Amino acid sequence: MYDKLITINDLMTSNKLKMNNYKVNEQGFYGEYGGAFVPEMLYPNVEELKNKYLQIIGTDDFKQQFNELLKNYVGRPNPLYFAKRLSEKYQTNIYLKREDLNHTGSHKVNNAIGQILLAKHLGKKRIIAETGAGQHGVATATVCALMNLQCVVYMGEVDIERQAPNVSRMKMLGAEVRAAKSGSRTLKDATNEAIRDWINNPEDTYYLIGSVVGPHPYPDMVARFQSVISEEIRIQLKEQTGNEKPDYVIACVGGGSNAMGAFYHFLDDLSVKLIATEAAGMGIDTDETAASLKVGSPGIIHGSRTYLMQTDDGQIIEPYSISAGLDYPGIGPIHAHLNDTKRVDYMSVTDKEALDAGFMLTKVEGIIPALESAHAIAVLEKKKFKKDDIVVINLSGRGDKDLATYIDKL
Ligand SMILES: *Cc1c(COP(=O)(O)O)cnc(C)c1O
Repeated sequence: MYDKLITINDLMTSNKLKMNNYKVNEQGFYGEYGGAFVPEMLYPNVEELKNKYLQIIGTDDFKQQFNELLKNYVGRPNPLYFAKRLSEKYQTNIYLKREDLNHTGSHKVNNAIGQILLAKHLGKKRIIAETGAGQHGVATATVCALMNLQCVVYMGEVDIERQAPNVSRMKMLGAEVRAAKSGSRTLKDATNEAIRDWINNPEDTYYLIGSVVGPHPYPDMVARFQSVISEEIRIQLKEQTGNEKPDYVIACVGGGSNAMGAFYHFLDDLSVKLIATEAAGMGIDTDETAASLKVGSPGIIHGSRTYLMQTDDGQIIEPYSISAGLDYPGIGPIHAHLNDTKRVDYMSVTDKEALDAGFMLTKVEGIIPALESAHAIAVLEKKKFKKDDIVVINLSGRGDKDLATYIDKL
């Protein structure tokens, strides 16, 4: 039974669940956003990927390997958990999609598995990635160990200092962590270094991007790999309630990959309302924020046109959020489009609201959420749901990595 639900078959072959209204066009655009704005030296790499990704991930061989690893290595399908006490507290029906129970502790591994298999099919020998908090770096180092591929992770010098446990994990997994020492020495500088590396090693190196960001085809590819989340939600909800469509799906957004995964198979069902939460940090009317859609404007970042936080002359503004995974100055281009078309309601949640939600969930359900995921939980305090609404919240990751931050606020 479950073997069927973790297949990406439907994405390639069936019309039933295919996302029709919001899919990327030939040039890699979602409405006005997306595309592939890369240095000329990178054209061959990006072209190769663009020309081959659909064909490769559509083969039986690929699908069989992807499904097998999601099942036996990642531990999918993870539960869709009816949170009884939480539902009583908020007088509605709340289900938590437990991405926190995946191997390595978040949804990031779904995508890392997909892309590492793709890299192998392309015959690549060396994997590069950039990471901010280190979570995507850990997921990448994990799948590289699994596949016995060389792994180099770029990370800002500042982030290396403040995310020491993840740096140790990556090293233990056999990855080389290279410090980005220019600019503000954080995520965007690490990204620049990774792109430079890719330019210098176009033949043997694969660039493994961790969210629905970057030049086409990355946003579409990552969304497809993460779409397993909503594929499972539909089937599990049908089993538990008799109806595969909830009233609401809620997820947090950094680059936007867990939200895309949770929304994917519902995008064409307008009866399913979709809510995404950006990190407001100290508040969207302060300088300490990461709410790109609220305070940003269209521009080009990381190879695609999307909303980003920038000064009047186009310099990227350093974002701020208590949650490292949401601390990103841009947002995936499909989210910019879903915001313009109003298909998704983008809310912003402050550090304080997220912390409160994290403590609340821990007390009420015995689940310590990642601070990122706590931004999605916080919607329960900000919006009133009806008594018979079915509300699915994507719990993107577990809170172990955030324990020091939580304890500091206890
Ligand atoms: C990285 C991360 C996020 C943010 O990334 P998206 O691409 O927006 O999903 C959210 N939650 C967790 C647990 C993460 O590790």
